[in-house]
Amino acid sequence: MKRREQKNLIPAWFRYPNYHWGTKHAVIIGAGIAGCQTAWHLVKQGWHVTLIEREKKIAQQASGNPAGIISPKMTAQASNGEDFYVDCFDYAVQQLSDLKTRHHKLDWHACGLLQLAHNDREEQRWESLKHREFAESFLQCIDKSQATEVAGIPIDYKASYFPQAGWINPVSFCNALLADCGDDCQVILESDVINLEKEQNKWQLLDKYKQTIASAEVVIIASGKDLNTFSQSNQLPSMPVKGQTTSVASNDFSKQLKTTIGHEGYLTPASDITSKLTFGASFDRNISQAHVDKNKDNENLDQLRKYLPQLADSFEKVNSAHVAIRMTTPDRFPYFGGIADKAFFTKNYADLHQGKQFKDYPKAKYIEGLFVLAGLGSRGLTTSGLCAKHLVNILESNEQNEAQSILQNCHPARFIIKDLKRNIYS
Ligand SMILES: Cc1cc2nc3c(=O)[nH]c(=O)nc-3n(C[C@H](O)[C@H](O)[C@H](O)COP(=O)(O)OP(=O)(O)OC[C@H]3O[C@@H](n4cnc5c(N)ncnc54)[C@H](O)[C@@H]3O)c2cc1C
Repeated sequence: MKRREQKNLIPAWFRYPNYHWGTKHAVIIGAGIAGCQTAWHLVKQGWHVTLIEREKKIAQQASGNPAGIISPKMTAQASNGEDFYVDCFDYAVQQLSDLKTRHHKLDWHACGLLQLAHNDREEQRWESLKHREFAESFLQCIDKSQATEVAGIPIDYKASYFPQAGWINPVSFCNALLADCGDDCQVILESDVINLEKEQNKWQLLDKYKQTIASAEVVIIASGKDLNTFSQSNQLPSMPVKGQTTSVASNDFSKQLKTTIGHEGYLTPASDITSKLTFGASFDRNISQAHVDKNKDNENLDQLRKYLPQLADSFEKVNSAHVAIRMTTPDRFPYFGGIADKAFFTKNYADLHQGKQFKDYPKAKYIEGLFVLAGLGSRGLTTSGLCAKHLVNILESNEQNEAQSILQNCHPARFIIKDLKRNIYS
């Protein structure tokens, strides 16, 4: 596939310093997929990690769904967004197949994904994709009868078929990552971090009684929907989107389904462990409370019936599977990296709107020792691994000064820079 990656130097406002940490110990807030991926990548680089989670178990919020899809997200024409998702997908598939060799309980099924061309826009995308040169092992644009053969049940649409894609149980993903970390990652459950305070060069993570839960020079906020609860991270624009999935017991007809299917929503085949299929998910913007709503199961079923009527009609009783908040960003790229010192940015880059391209700007300044991996939206199972890898490279002062588009697209300060370029702060 052709890539438009530029190898220029990264602009001053997106550069990171060379870090010299006293010890390689980091505290992570949040044990969803973002926190577990960060822990795994840190431990691989010789760090010790303390992972703090508010709930009684890990992966109970957005990462607590019974099933999610690991897939790329294609645009009709090549784009930065598509490159990002394809890279993340390749990385996730590699990582999952590696994890599977060591963790037999990892509930990962590389059974392929059929993305149905279910409306005019998707048909146009399908046509465009067909004319681009993809390896068959990555993407095949197939007709209805081929799609029916791949799926094992009747499909009335052309489809983009991704043979390496599939579905994962996210809890099993998090468990496998932490099992690999062994004693290098200490998990502290039922601890709610309320405040972050700096004492000398260490962050103190305080509970509601102002008692220190943990402390370290390096803290990574991976708190999902609660990204904005800390004064240090509430500068990061984000939007909650509630999502509910529905599950149903497998029957003779649904047992024939061999692959995951994407339409407006998604559907995963029956799990060997629960014998249930999962489908959905609902998509309710700006709702930050996650309560199960029975009506959403009927909406999910109606949506499924629109695209796969025979399958939907074969189900007798559907149940709510899981409800959670996905935290999204205005441009849909996640956040990973250091959290900007906003006062420094607004002072030193104030004239960016004047387009002084050749001015020698000072290097960016960050809140020392504070990092983030969040805003993973509805694709975090697929994207969190590669983002965590780059985040750890930043901490290790590796590679960050090359203008890789992923570092800039996902930079936590990008919206401050965007606003400065539009002269919002004057
Ligand atoms: C219905 C639904 C369907 C989805 N389907 C897919 C899919 O098919 N494919 C895909 O790739 N992605 C999918 N996603 C998206 C993916 O699940 C999320 O992007 C991902 O799980 C986000 O992970 P996270 O670790 O950022 O957040 P979370 O999993 O929410 O983890 C954050 C954790 O931080 C803890 N926490 C927060 N604040 C504190 C604090 N102050 N102190 C201590 N602990 C704290 C929380 O308790 C939580 O456990 C779906 C999401 C939903 C909701």
